[in-house]
Amino acid sequence: MNENYSGKNVVITGGSSGIGFATAKLLADAGARVVITGRSRTTLDHAAERLGENVLAVRSDVSSLPDLDALAAHVRDALGTVHALFVNAGITSAMPFASTTEEMYDESFAINVKGAFFTVQKLAPLLSTGAGVVLTTSVANVMGIPETSVYAAGKAALRSMARSFSRELLPRGIRVNAISPGPVDTGILEKTMPKEAADRFKAERIAASPMRRFGTPEEVARAVAFLAFEATYTTGAELVVDGGITQL
Ligand code: NAD
Repeated sequence: MNENYSGKNVVITGGSSGIGFATAKLLADAGARVVITGRSRTTLDHAAERLGENVLAVRSDVSSLPDLDALAAHVRDALGTVHALFVNAGITSAMPFASTTEEMYDESFAINVKGAFFTVQKLAPLLSTGAGVVLTTSVANVMGIPETSVYAAGKAALRSMARSFSRELLPRGIRVNAISPGPVDTGILEKTMPKEAADRFKAERIAASPMRRFGTPEEVARAVAFLAFEATYTTGAELVVDGGITQL
């Protein structure tokens, strides 16, 4: 795998923690210039400090179209063209469908689905010929995991968008693929459920995993870099990084 990304410009939404942070670190350490985004200035500043001088942190909420317009303007000024766009920002929502409120549904779709759609739309004009876009789906989109109906449906929508965007961006030589992580211990669960519920959910997922473990953010980051830069004959595909959960 090419481990020198100098001269490459990358945008990662939701890059202040977890999989986005690990991907920003992998690419910036190898010379890429990376813009990361998130909603909290404090968290972004902390992340940028740890990631070093190749990384610029821009406050931008993916569910806000004015924020995405401002992000595109910022990226154009700071980087010019973009060689890889990692559409990673997302939230989980764990709730039986019978108790899911309209507010929960709207928040999940506003960030995970509408946010991803308009991130690609607004940044597409800046993508260079040969650029790679990676959308973040989840193994949840092909499984019936309890209490994930809204989240899983949103991720299935992104799986579909990877195909449609691929078709529309192909004339410009741009590839669009999806990365589908299995369980990765990033703290994302604890953000939406009490610790005991997160621990129970994690124990169930580990028991169901052929590898009997969670993946690491770094393992997903390597697959994202592959899709974004090396997979030059791959478009509209979904790469599963799940320890075999959906495959064995
Ligand atoms: P995480 O919480 O560490 O990362 C999510 C990132 O998105 C954070 O940086 C957060 O600040 C950002 N974000 C959330 N809402 C945002 C908004 N409105 N605008 C901008 N940024 C926003 O969790 P993670 O596990 O690294 O998740 C990254 C992606 O991977 C998500 O799309 C998630 O659904 C997906 N995923 C995670 C797992 C897992 O097990 N961790 C599995 C499958 C898919």
